[in-house]
Amino acid sequence: KVSSKEAYQLPRYVRVNLLKSNTEDVIDYFKREGYTYLGQATSIADLRQIDRKQFISDLHLSELLAFHPKTDLHEHFLYTAGHIILQDKASCLPAYLLSPPAGSHVIDACAAPGNKTSHLAAILRNKGKLFAFDLDTKRLATMGTLLLRAGVTCHELANQDFTLVDPSDPKYQDVNYVLVDPSCSGSGIVNRLNQFTDEEESASAQRLQALASFQYKALSLALSFPNVERVIYSTCSIHCEENEDVVKEILKRHGNRIRLVNLMPSWPLRGLDTFPEGPYCIRATPSDTLTNGFFVAMFEKQPGEKETEQ
Ligand code: SAM
Repeated sequence: KVSSKEAYQLPRYVRVNLLKSNTEDVIDYFKREGYTYLGQATSIADLRQIDRKQFISDLHLSELLAFHPKTDLHEHFLYTAGHIILQDKASCLPAYLLSPPAGSHVIDACAAPGNKTSHLAAILRNKGKLFAFDLDTKRLATMGTLLLRAGVTCHELANQDFTLVDPSDPKYQDVNYVLVDPSCSGSGIVNRLNQFTDEEESASAQRLQALASFQYKALSLALSFPNVERVIYSTCSIHCEENEDVVKEILKRHGNRIRLVNLMPSWPLRGLDTFPEGPYCIRATPSDTLTNGFFVAMFEKQPGEKETEQ
């Protein structure tokens, strides 16, 4: 847990929405407004050095810009017009790593409020099909507005429990990619004082167990779509129970037909080595990666393998 003494100042990350703009134009826009562009960061340390009215391109994601922690762009024209999305860097990793080619069919299993959905749509260049599910009607309504503003057109929203979706429905026949970003304890989210969410609130053993069993169920279902090739799993939790433990259980059960992808070998913080491929996953924390606390794992179907277990 981060104490107030070691308060971290996270940069304000801005993802350029490639459905409406391009990185060069957004950089020029901010420069014309008097911001100084520092070029491309070459290390995470560079992201700590941004002064007010300065910004820098991220070292990992080309369409991501980082601003001084006190920058507030919620009223900015580029945000209200959907040209930029205000999204933490860690939360940009799942869609970036899943990287579905334009034209593919993709599922976003727990999608609202839709930041990762709009990122996926941008990667797809709005070509293909993006099935997005969420249980929460209110969050889904907000998501509809956000997607409209972001110019997303390749989506189909469903107010539906993902764990009840039938993978053999012909509608999902061509789904090759699934993103699973389920409800989690949120223990990785840093609050305004740059402390992680109150652990007592987020992490009773019972609550973690209930969340982990939902996370396992959603992930398991995602892996059972007949033509799935890649499934990415992410949480904004720092708890092993919701991260490595879930992945380990999935490998135990489906390991004969899937494998874990070794994600971004140059990423500094790895999954815990509670099982041999644990470090193939990536973690993020305010101190190590200047982001919220986060976890990502990606499963890939072994070539020629078929599901043998229910
Ligand atoms: N992916 C979203 C984004 O990047 O904007 C954030 C998703 S949030 C971590 C988890 C979401 O899962 C919540 O909106 C919640 O309503 C939804 N959810 C919870 N249980 C679900 C279920 N059984 N089926 C579908 N969605 C569910």
